Amino acid sequence: MPVLTDVPDPTCPDDGVVLAVGATGLCRSDWHAWQGREPVSLPHIPGHELAGTVAEVGPAVRRWRVGDRVTVPFVCGCGVCEYCRSGDPQVCPQQTQPGFTGPGSFAERVVLHAADVNLVALPDSVDFVTAASLGCRFATAFRAVHAHGRVGAGDWLSVYGCGGVGLSAVLIGSALGARVIAVDVSASALARARELGAVAVVDTSREHDPVAAVQTITDGGAHVSIDALGSADLAAASVRGLRRRGRHVQVGLLHGAESAPPLPMDLVIARELEIYGSHGMAAHEYPAMLALVVDRTLRPERLVGRVIALADAGAALATMDRPSSPGMTVIELPH
Ligand SMILES: [Zn+2]
Ligand SMILES: [Zn+2]
Repeated sequence: MPVLTDVPDPTCPDDGVVLAVGATGLCRSDWHAWQGREPVSLPHIPGHELAGTVAEVGPAVRRWRVGDRVTVPFVCGCGVCEYCRSGDPQVCPQQTQPGFTGPGSFAERVVLHAADVNLVALPDSVDFVTAASLGCRFATAFRAVHAHGRVGAGDWLSVYGCGGVGLSAVLIGSALGARVIAVDVSASALARARELGAVAVVDTSREHDPVAAVQTITDGGAHVSIDALGSADLAAASVRGLRRRGRHVQVGLLHGAESAPPLPMDLVIARELEIYGSHGMAAHEYPAMLALVVDRTLRPERLVGRVIALADAGAALATMDRPSSPGMTVIELPH
């Protein structure tokens, strides 16, 4: 079991900051790491969806001051490689990820590297709990729906898997005017998806052919489809359920036996389908998303379920393989 304990305060890197954590989300990726599916060095501090106040600033940092309220993408770019320089730090080969490549934010203090590239200023109206809920699942879903999926008003968007990232995609898609179909095995997850804007649902505990169901509802297939869970079957179903010229976005992480889905590449040719992977979102794309949060087009706080204390984080992490209370769990720290 993960335990709460005292460790030495982190040292501030020259190009980074030490952040006083205000809130940090509990994500299934943290659970995967705890299960040994992500390489982390032990002992380890999880946590990669975070927001807080800058407490210490390295001498090479230009843009940030002690006291600034910020959040950060879960993928931090190095800031100097060709990918970072062309605006794609989310795929930086030297990327750092708090909670994976180093100690994370289930802590009072966390180090963030290359602060000038990676930190995002928080508008005053966005509190730390809401901001932490944006960090990984919401931002990844936003990039999947908006940048990769390019959904337009009236488009059909099918979302396979209604956990944190799937429900984020449902909320974002419907806020952007898409007609969203939620696909899941859980009736309560589907009910939540309807509350967040889904106009139709497919319950795979009763409907054995979700692809046919999606094609019937959409009269020919979805314009955009997302596997938000990370399953070989759902990834393949998502591609099969697309309309001609449709776009599949793989958001759910694929591990082990699930890592190589049998995708119907014949349909990819015949229907001219597009397939994308979505791996977080660059800091420079956050202001556009935050503007939609500030003007209330997007209401990510609707996805937050429980707010817990740091002392309860270990137990909450350990139960992430079981169905829990709906919505994202966010850890709030005194600030
Ligand atoms: Zn880089
Ligand atoms: Zn995450």
